[in-house]
Amino acid sequence: MPETSQLSINLATVRARYEIGEILDAVARHGIPAVAPWRDQIASIGLKETSKRIRDLGLKVSGVCRGGMFPAADKAAYEANLEDNVRAVEEAAELDAACLVLVVGGIPEGSRDLAGARRQVRDGIAWLEERASAAGVRLAIEPLHPMYCADRAVVNTMGHALDICEDVGGNVGVACDVYHVWWDPDLDAQIRRAGKAKLHAFHICDWLRDTRDLLLDRGMMGDGVIDIRGIREKVEAEGFDGFHEVEIFSRDDWWKRDIDEVLSTCIERHKSCC
Ligand code: ZN
Repeated sequence: MPETSQLSINLATVRARYEIGEILDAVARHGIPAVAPWRDQIASIGLKETSKRIRDLGLKVSGVCRGGMFPAADKAAYEANLEDNVRAVEEAAELDAACLVLVVGGIPEGSRDLAGARRQVRDGIAWLEERASAAGVRLAIEPLHPMYCADRAVVNTMGHALDICEDVGGNVGVACDVYHVWWDPDLDAQIRRAGKAKLHAFHICDWLRDTRDLLLDRGMMGDGVIDIRGIREKVEAEGFDGFHEVEIFSRDDWWKRDIDEVLSTCIERHKSCC
């Protein structure tokens, strides 16, 4: 059974009603040891203040969300995306994050060039890797469920993410989010292929059988169809010893609830369902 000492809260899970300072205080109050902030949440109080609060509360950072979003319709926009990723690396470094999560980006508006978008992603990650290495930041490519291929990520399987890792080299790994990869018949083999060295993050939530929204209807662990414990055991069998990061976007359910209820449910379900 997993311990609360292995739990992290991705701050998206409670973002709708609470600002980052309140969230960090609540996470610490519940005895949860780690968080994963989003960059807009960091920006809302500033990087230095975020870093100070996290340190003062004794929290660890399982990841910063997020870098990526590489593809662009023209060179200037592509370069601007790269520069934004450099700032994301700086933020991850300042927060001593276990990784910078990369949601790689979809197809630029008006384009049908999927292969071109994937080339930009590969080249962007290779470019960023040097800067991330220099800053001591590990990059974690997060493959997203194929339903997000158009608008969020043209990398949709662990296998594809690991191909890029091997292609660009350096300290690029993957973020294994059960929500995105649970359906993949090749998942077990790809977890073994990744091994400890490339498993940089592990995200948990559940896939509701009757999903009502493609983005904002993720389930609490135990409420859906994913064998989270089975996947967690496979990841840990490879030596992964990082945090189990709860990441739930739930506009009509969990985002409406009180933060103490959400966090205590995360603790309970993490123990009983993960
Ligand atoms: Zn995730």
